[in-house]
Amino acid sequence: MPPFSAIEQVISQDPGNRGVGPLILPGQVLDAAQSLLQSQFVVIPTGFYVLTAGAFETDGPPGAWALEHALSALGIATQLLTDPDFVHVLSLQAAGPIAAYREGWSPEPVPSHFVSIERCGRAADSRYYNLRGLDITPFTAPLDDLFLNAQAAGIETIGIGDGGNEIGMGRVLPLVKTSIPNGEQIACVVPTDKLIVSGVSNWGAWGLVAAMSVLAKRNLLPSRADEITRIQCLVENGVVDGKTGCNEPTVDGLTADVYLQVLDDLHRIVNWELSR
Ligand code: CA
Repeated sequence: MPPFSAIEQVISQDPGNRGVGPLILPGQVLDAAQSLLQSQFVVIPTGFYVLTAGAFETDGPPGAWALEHALSALGIATQLLTDPDFVHVLSLQAAGPIAAYREGWSPEPVPSHFVSIERCGRAADSRYYNLRGLDITPFTAPLDDLFLNAQAAGIETIGIGDGGNEIGMGRVLPLVKTSIPNGEQIACVVPTDKLIVSGVSNWGAWGLVAAMSVLAKRNLLPSRADEITRIQCLVENGVVDGKTGCNEPTVDGLTADVYLQVLDDLHRIVNWELSR
């Protein structure tokens, strides 16, 4: 199997039975990786608020860190972006600068790319909803404004998500409405130029880094130890599992074994390609 198809297959496993299969657009991982290898300055929003826990979740930040570290290793400038209340935690494992979004904020200089990772985007009624259909608008800075204005500014956009309510899902809006529970209500209407849908958003980010690794002929993925350290750091700082709401080292309700198997599989694909 070609490496990019293998990468897509690995990251699209859906152990949480989210029903994201119909939302997957084949070829997007390769397209996004090719585009990012031409980038100059990449702004990476992440951070998803869990209402029942009053805290942010473990899916998103590790993916953002993985992408940020990979781009930095290639000499490409990055900036992480999140809600003011989450900047401190997101900075703990960051490779580069980070910003807090407040209405009207815009990056300097103008970036070449925005890459959203597990970031809630507005629904048709301009509110922000979690998968259960609960309104998290007061806890979600409207940084999807940046994506709505990106095309006019000549900025390429990439979205990574696993539920239907994340920035980028506007690209497959009719499918979210019909395939995802509460889809009509929660579907994000903000599209991105490229859209990576995966079983877990961190996996989508790793898949993107894996594809960049194959193209750049250099393994840019985080190690298993890196990833365990990052999750542990999040949990020690109050971050919770987005599915269970518990302050424990799991992602989307998955045990470390299931969660990290995807990283192992991506390493195997990349290392096989680089050894040929
Ligand atoms: Ca998720």
